[in-house]
Amino acid sequence: MIGQIPTEFVAHLISFGDIMDFDEEVFLNLYEDKLKQYIKEYLSSNTIKNNIFEFDVECFLNRFPEACELNDLIIENPKNVEESIFYILKEVYLELFGDDDRTKRELEKVQIAFKNPLGCEKKIEDINSSDINRLTKFEGTIIKAAKVCALLKKACFVCRNCGEIRYKTIHNYFEDPRMFCKNENCKSEMSLDLDNSSYINIQELEIQQPIDLMKNPDDPPRSIRVFLENSEGIYSGRVDVVGTVMKKRTKPNMPVFEIYVKSNYIKLSESFQKIEVRDIINRPDLIDTLNELGKKKNIVDILSQYLIPQIKGYDLVKRAIFLQQIKGCTKFLPDGTQLRKDSHILLITDPGIGKSTMLRRITRLFPQNAYASVTTATGGGLTANVVRESTEIGDGWVVKPGVFVRANEGTACIDELTVDKNVMKYILEAMESQTIHVNKGGINVKLPAKCAVLAACNPKRGRFDLNMGVVEQIGIPSPLLSRFDLIFPLKDMPNRKRDEEIAEHILNTHIETAVKDYKIMGAIDIDGITVDENLIKNYIIYARTCAYFEENHNLFTGTEVDETKLKNPYLTDKAKKIIKDYYINMRKLGEGNNPIPVTARQLEAAIRLSEMHAKARLAKKVEEKDAKAALNIIEECLKEIAYDPETGKFDIDKGMGQMPKSKVDKMDKILDIIRELSALSDNKLAHEDDIIEKASEYNISEKDVEDILGKLKRNAEIFSPKYGYYRVS
Ligand SMILES: [Zn+2]
Repeated sequence: MIGQIPTEFVAHLISFGDIMDFDEEVFLNLYEDKLKQYIKEYLSSNTIKNNIFEFDVECFLNRFPEACELNDLIIENPKNVEESIFYILKEVYLELFGDDDRTKRELEKVQIAFKNPLGCEKKIEDINSSDINRLTKFEGTIIKAAKVCALLKKACFVCRNCGEIRYKTIHNYFEDPRMFCKNENCKSEMSLDLDNSSYINIQELEIQQPIDLMKNPDDPPRSIRVFLENSEGIYSGRVDVVGTVMKKRTKPNMPVFEIYVKSNYIKLSESFQKIEVRDIINRPDLIDTLNELGKKKNIVDILSQYLIPQIKGYDLVKRAIFLQQIKGCTKFLPDGTQLRKDSHILLITDPGIGKSTMLRRITRLFPQNAYASVTTATGGGLTANVVRESTEIGDGWVVKPGVFVRANEGTACIDELTVDKNVMKYILEAMESQTIHVNKGGINVKLPAKCAVLAACNPKRGRFDLNMGVVEQIGIPSPLLSRFDLIFPLKDMPNRKRDEEIAEHILNTHIETAVKDYKIMGAIDIDGITVDENLIKNYIIYARTCAYFEENHNLFTGTEVDETKLKNPYLTDKAKKIIKDYYINMRKLGEGNNPIPVTARQLEAAIRLSEMHAKARLAKKVEEKDAKAALNIIEECLKEIAYDPETGKFDIDKGMGQMPKSKVDKMDKILDIIRELSALSDNKLAHEDDIIEKASEYNISEKDVEDILGKLKRNAEIFSPKYGYYRVS
């Protein structure tokens, strides 16, 4: 029977996997001069921030192309190269800045971080045991982040026997640091002096492979645990990681190891916008095609139809969704606050219209778009959760970014919005401020959630009741409802011509899928330009930022995009006048005793939509036609939502879930009637039958009277001391 395998033996076996042996002397002979020169040049124009010396491998190789093998050495032996470079850095630093004790002590805290190593890019799913002790570079999304803790990094050892002091860098957190005195006639074990050791921040993260980088997007995504040294606290976002793959024993008596990554270089991936634009910038042919497409008449209509081909009809809804993907203009107030550029859209649909199909289609369009159904997601799942979980370090509190955070810079597609009332309050903050504030378990942080919301739900009773107002049938509280720029009820109304078209469309889709000759789902031809899935994506990306392509070009090729400097289309005087006139006219309808039809929110929605429309046709200015197109969409929404059939007027209060003015008037009338009747009667009470009779004189139906009496009673405006009798409170 095989006994327990000694630890050292296992460790030896594992380290045997190292392909390149590292010889410090050879290394210094080859690279010391070049490294010294590079570091000297670096330090003359840069300072060491946060105790991190960023060693940019790519930069070094550009400077010393003949030293290209250093890149491989770093990848194969990051730990050893790090120590050698640190040794050189110390020499150069003391030479430049004096070698007093304080400088020496401060210098001990400094760490080397490798940046831009070449040829070690991996996908998270491909990182395995053969990468142990090697440097890798990968990209992923933070799905779990713990609190920042302190890590013993440079252990200070003191020899109790001879007084010798030595420092040792901790590379493996899972082993107790030990050191023996190097003095020839001492050799005794040194003891750790915690007070004189130096510490750095460390944060535990779980990073997941993004769907766009997966071989098979239907597989469950893989994730890897990362220990981020010198972290200032990072809790969400897509990141580039450079780190050393490490192992950690999972069971004390078995040589089985878990793989994790130790990193001191994580960078938030540049905004998706920049990543996307960069793919286009170097393709002049593509830009020509896109520009040509932009000039086509009705391009917005054609592309919106193509965006959601599975569903027939609902042209205006599709146009709104297409424009939503393009986003409005990036604008900042002088104090730096960004104005919301996203339009939130709500679809209320009869069953069978395919709302989930639309949502999933939009989700798949861009990697930063995310989908959740309220049937399974919790409020925290939508925004962010702070929960206790087993972690290697810290007290177990971790942040898990939800759908809104994952959809930063994209669209959060929220299905079955009304299934769980509890989640609605979570969404409210996210939609307006576009940030998620987390404060629990000692973690207090604001996560960016700059996303558009495309939400969908069915009416309360499953189908639309044509005798009831739309808003009464969905049960969304008015504060949340008013956050949506556009609310579309999609009613499944029988209509001979349309039904025929839909039947034809669905049948064709099935036939095409069977014979694999795609016309509806496949590419379309616009005057000789073949538009497929890829081209429409590129068109949207181009439209998002590239109205002033030449002017913004430099911003996107630089290292960081300064969004405050982006040039955007602006409202022309004519467009401004159209929007202003519309707003004032609608407001005018609200004067006197009329319901108030439009609020400043709708005005902002109109501006956003006009901008989107201008961008969608690659225009540099928001012109009359853009404003008209925007108002057309808004009016169509208002017609459905805010139209009060009782008065024949638009009433935005009704649209936003409040009681329509006509109903409020009726309630006042009923109160008057009760006052009048009770004043006349002996017992000072008004009888229900009399109220109904009197109300009929004002064209208020019996059903309405009963409704209103119930409401007034609940509001304690009237009370009923005797069955069927009422008095005003
Ligand atoms: Zn000693």
